[in-house]
Amino acid sequence: MNRDPRYDPLFQSLQIGPVETKNRFYQVPHCNGGGYRDPSAVAEMRKVKAQGGWGVVFTEQVELHHTSEITPYIELRIWDDDDIPMLSKMADSIHEYDALAGIELTYSGVNGPNLYTREVPMSASAMPVKTFFKDPVHARQMDKKDIRDLRRWHRNGCIRARDAGYDLICLYGAHGFGVIQHFLSTSTNQRTDEYGGSLENRARLMAELLSECKDAVGDTVAITVRLSLNEMVNGLGFSNSEVRDVIGMHAELPDLWDLAHGAWEDCSGPSRFKDEDAQHDLVQGIKELTTKPVVGVGRFTSPDLMVKQIQSGHLDLIGCARPSIAEPFLPNKIDEGRVEDIRECIGCNICITGDMTMSVSRCTQNPTFMEEWRRGWHPESFPAGKSGEIVLIVGAGPAGLEAARVAGERGYDVFLAEATGELGGRVNKERHLPGLSAWGRVADYRSYQLSQMPNVEVYKGSALDAEQVLEFGATHVAIATGATWRRDGVARHHILPMPISGDIGVYTPDDLMQGNIPQGRVVIYDDDHYYMGGVLAELLIDKGADVILVTPSAFVSEWTNNTLEQATIHQKLGNLGVKLILNRSVESVSDSGLTTACIYTGSQENIKADNIVLVTAQRPDDELWRSMSTQEDRWADHGVTSVKIIGDAVSPAPIAWATFAGHRYAREIGQPDIGDALPFRREVFQPH
Ligand code: ADP
Ligand code: SF4
Repeated sequence: MNRDPRYDPLFQSLQIGPVETKNRFYQVPHCNGGGYRDPSAVAEMRKVKAQGGWGVVFTEQVELHHTSEITPYIELRIWDDDDIPMLSKMADSIHEYDALAGIELTYSGVNGPNLYTREVPMSASAMPVKTFFKDPVHARQMDKKDIRDLRRWHRNGCIRARDAGYDLICLYGAHGFGVIQHFLSTSTNQRTDEYGGSLENRARLMAELLSECKDAVGDTVAITVRLSLNEMVNGLGFSNSEVRDVIGMHAELPDLWDLAHGAWEDCSGPSRFKDEDAQHDLVQGIKELTTKPVVGVGRFTSPDLMVKQIQSGHLDLIGCARPSIAEPFLPNKIDEGRVEDIRECIGCNICITGDMTMSVSRCTQNPTFMEEWRRGWHPESFPAGKSGEIVLIVGAGPAGLEAARVAGERGYDVFLAEATGELGGRVNKERHLPGLSAWGRVADYRSYQLSQMPNVEVYKGSALDAEQVLEFGATHVAIATGATWRRDGVARHHILPMPISGDIGVYTPDDLMQGNIPQGRVVIYDDDHYYMGGVLAELLIDKGADVILVTPSAFVSEWTNNTLEQATIHQKLGNLGVKLILNRSVESVSDSGLTTACIYTGSQENIKADNIVLVTAQRPDDELWRSMSTQEDRWADHGVTSVKIIGDAVSPAPIAWATFAGHRYAREIGQPDIGDALPFRREVFQPH
């Protein structure tokens, strides 16, 4: 098929300083949890995006100099010439598919605690470092010599980046990260010399760096700058009007203006709180201030919205991080007239948790992300399975759907049996909770893909038991039957069931998702710590209940610190009138109410309540698996060669774990047993 002509503007070339991009798809820098620890994995991931049609593909942030590093987070480094081969490998990978390679140079300043190098951090002004861990370290103020050094380090970094093969160099000054922003913002710059005070002075470092980097390498490499569109902290900061003034002042200095929303949590806001194109108003009109290209982001997944950005003169280039992770082939699919095949990002921010937990990032929608090199998984190509073999998948949640999709792509005859009348499993329930509608894309994308495969058959309303599975005639069986929230309070605090008696109604998230909504005074007891407790609090407020959320954690929805939404959740629940009780467990439920206890002192208090919702552990629904296991001696008689249990049915976890499990299952059907060997490649230390 051919491209719909209305998307032609997205495929026009554009000059960016001395280089030209073939189209308007600009993969802005994004972390991946791998960085310097997993450079081959990162290189392959970027290559796949270039193959998928992105005109510009950037690295993640690259630490410019050893005097500023953000350990324990794992990004890239360009500290000296020893880093060039690794960075060259990435640039070469990107060039293989005719994309421009971009590198984002970062001097972290007040964000760098220097735990690894033990250098004293330096920043625009002296202050405690601003890190996620609130490291007890102060940055000292840069003096004039430090600033001269910093300028030289930038020039040297640019020369190394050029020698490594990069076409664009972005100086990072957005998201509250990056020394350029620290100088621009009154929340981090209280200097009284020519680098502080007036906006002109605060922008001086940016202007010096841009012009000196251009002098150093600008004849062949585009020099860009990434700025936050709005970042105010307690009345101080760098406001949207100041951004406009700075751009007006230095309109033609960089080869491109790269605009990010505000703090990282603003720019990468989850779909629960931020819509597509959320930074629209902050960007509006900026293009009129400069003749240089402007790129902006907004979790763009809709080609129509993308083309509107270009045609209305709002942006010149469509910046994407998460949409390019979920769908590395987004540009090619638009180009090939396959818009309905785009795997849209759901805005869950699981990818970000890979960076925040210093592990390798994963993506809910695209399980091949960061597995391109490690496991040899490509998002669009699948090794052929053995013809004539039948794969039966029981359960059409995210694990079963992804297993069916990938087994179908491999050419197996696939049968997917689902007990209910709908495909999607937990996603079908969770998508109706406040703020989670975009998560439905997990089910919608896969249901559509399955509907297009002649070798995949779906049976809805088909709850299978072991006898039916054996009789089915399948060669391979995957059991993806999901999990159920526990009703006995067992999770992290209660190892054994919580004492529960009396008339207080006891509910689980499954009850609420099935429309069984408690009224009156409702306590949500959250010992799960991800999104569910907070989301149900919103739901219950909406339904008119009086809600108290009790959690043994010091934070509401603690794990959402990793998805950058914890503060927003706390603020939202507070504003909705949810009473938040932190650092306390619910010890027991009885007629006299709920007994809570401080997790530190054990001191007890009673809360009166009509109902309690237990957001605690989940129990795998593995009866079918257990029944099949006990009958293993019958498998061969029925032609069954393998039975596997996958997803929440074996280990309840976020949706991304289920899509990964489904994908892995289907990739590994028919593969020889590898015994004790590692199931993936890794970068192994070679002694000098
Ligand atoms: P996961 O996240 O691992 O994919 P889900 O809970 O989302 O798990 O989905 C499991 C799906 O399996 C649900 O849609 C459920 O209705 C279905 N299911 C459970 N038991 C059976 C069964 N015996 N036969 C067919 N479908 C089943
Ligand atoms: Fe989008 Fe979630 Fe994938 Fe991140 S993990 S790219 S937010 S779908």
